[in-house]
Amino acid sequence: MTVAETLREVRERMAGACARVGRDSARVRLVAVSKTQPAEAVAAILALGVDAIGENRVQEAAAKRPLVPAGTPWHLLGPLQRNKARLALDTFDCIESVDRLEIADRLELLLAPDGRVLPVFIEVNIGGEPQKSGVLPGQTRDLAEHVLSGCPHLRLGGLMCIPPYDPDPERSRPHFARLRELAERLAAGLGLGRLELSMGMSEDFEVAIEEGADWVRVGRALFGERTG
Ligand SMILES: *Cc1c(COP(=O)(O)O)cnc(C)c1O
Repeated sequence: MTVAETLREVRERMAGACARVGRDSARVRLVAVSKTQPAEAVAAILALGVDAIGENRVQEAAAKRPLVPAGTPWHLLGPLQRNKARLALDTFDCIESVDRLEIADRLELLLAPDGRVLPVFIEVNIGGEPQKSGVLPGQTRDLAEHVLSGCPHLRLGGLMCIPPYDPDPERSRPHFARLRELAERLAAGLGLGRLELSMGMSEDFEVAIEEGADWVRVGRALFGERTG
């Protein structure tokens, strides 16, 4: 299948999930996850139109981005090391993987002199898995408060999660529901408007949409299996 065909299919599946729960499909955005894909593949999907490009490695994205047309935002999805923060800011328009105070502070320090405001998501380790990145659900409020009160150059857009891997998407549903409840509780507790939800990947994006995802992050269903 061509990427035009896979993109049409993913969009149809997104619309189907929206229809099942009475959501407006225009409000659910697609991040095309192009990690390990060559710049040509990124250019091809950009030409068709997606809401954002997602990458999980700073250096890989920094090498690819200059090779493709501008105009679509790039989101960092993978863990961010302190020493890559500068390059990440030069490369990305949104960082979805803020998961600790030090990285929020580092970004704030680098953004402030330019007066640039960066949209960010807090990554939540929703399954509480050891070894996995993301802040634990119980510590999310502290990090959110820190971003809101101590990092004026970070704009908290919402929460992101990667649930424990399971090939059965129904097993991810309770994790997605939990992220939605956490976001609702946080928004109410902190006096914010809605916090958006970035959740759902190739295997489970329809279930994620049914549970309230505003952004789905889809790689393999668009580009095929990763070889690298
Ligand atoms: C790779 C990745 C995705 C996309 O995964 P697919 O299974 O290829 O759809 C989404 N989110 C994050 C954080 C990723 O690292």
